[in-house]
Amino acid sequence: AGGAAAALVGRSAGGATSELSGPVIVTSWEFGPGANEVGWPILADEGLAIDAVEAAINYVELLPDEFYVGFGGSPNAIGETTLDAMMVWGPTHEVGAVGCLKRVKRAVSVARKVMEETQHTLLVGDDATRFAARMGFDETSLTNAASQKAWEEWAAKGRPSDAWDPEPMGEGGKIEGRDTVGTMAVDAHGNVCVGCSTNGRSFKLPGRVGDSPIAGAGAYCDNDVGAAIATGNGDVMMRFLPTYHAVELMREGASPAEAAEAALRRIDAKGYHFDGGIIVLGKDGEHGGAKRGWKDEAFGYAVHRGAGTSQVTVRG
Ligand code: ASP
Repeated sequence: AGGAAAALVGRSAGGATSELSGPVIVTSWEFGPGANEVGWPILADEGLAIDAVEAAINYVELLPDEFYVGFGGSPNAIGETTLDAMMVWGPTHEVGAVGCLKRVKRAVSVARKVMEETQHTLLVGDDATRFAARMGFDETSLTNAASQKAWEEWAAKGRPSDAWDPEPMGEGGKIEGRDTVGTMAVDAHGNVCVGCSTNGRSFKLPGRVGDSPIAGAGAYCDNDVGAAIATGNGDVMMRFLPTYHAVELMREGASPAEAAEAALRRIDAKGYHFDGGIIVLGKDGEHGGAKRGWKDEAFGYAVHRGAGTSQVTVRG
């Protein structure tokens, strides 16, 4: 995703507040408006945030042409598409996640099953697939014409995965492929939920698990405070738990935009130059974001609440 982001209209530095409190749903990137449209009716009907988040993310996971989330998208270095996803449910502070999930499309729903049906937090690889099958999910190839073509073109160049390159500490350190759907919601009952799903960075080494299924890295929420989601170079960002950091800063009084910026500044301070962004939602509905890199990408998010919808471009 990213190409159609011209539709995003913005406010500088990603800070925005309006008509706070009441249900709200926020989703990253340019598939945000479509995802929110699926999740919002559940919130408007006084449904649970967890159902709204799952429905919004399923919508993106099942989009036939979305390359960076769900099936048929950015493959790993041996041509297989594998998925990372997570849900965090504020009222109980439970987490369910899957990493390197194979051959199952609705990864966030499998993550929810891990949360609701087991005492575990994270299942990975073929064993996560076996768990999904036991939970009644269909097993099917995640390869399609687009992912096959992308892998063939990449493999024909004969270059190793960029994951073998040195750390992206210097200017210009870039990874191939980026995008994660992250959705945060507050429902009419005051429950906070966050979820995310991705097929991860392109041409990753087989077995790689990124930031998305790690609580506090790819996503985090606290029912008293709010939520945060991350996207971008997960191999760097997961070392700093930026979504946990941002939520904790909000707890201490930072605004969402301040918290997002401060969480990324912690990564800068260790000398990393990376492409990545974070979006933060206060329980009161205030939202904000921050990003690094992505000079050619319009990184943003969509907000849907009772008063209507808005789209925000996060500027670096
Ligand atoms: N954070 C994801 C990963 O590293 C990719 C992305 O959001 O761009 O797997």
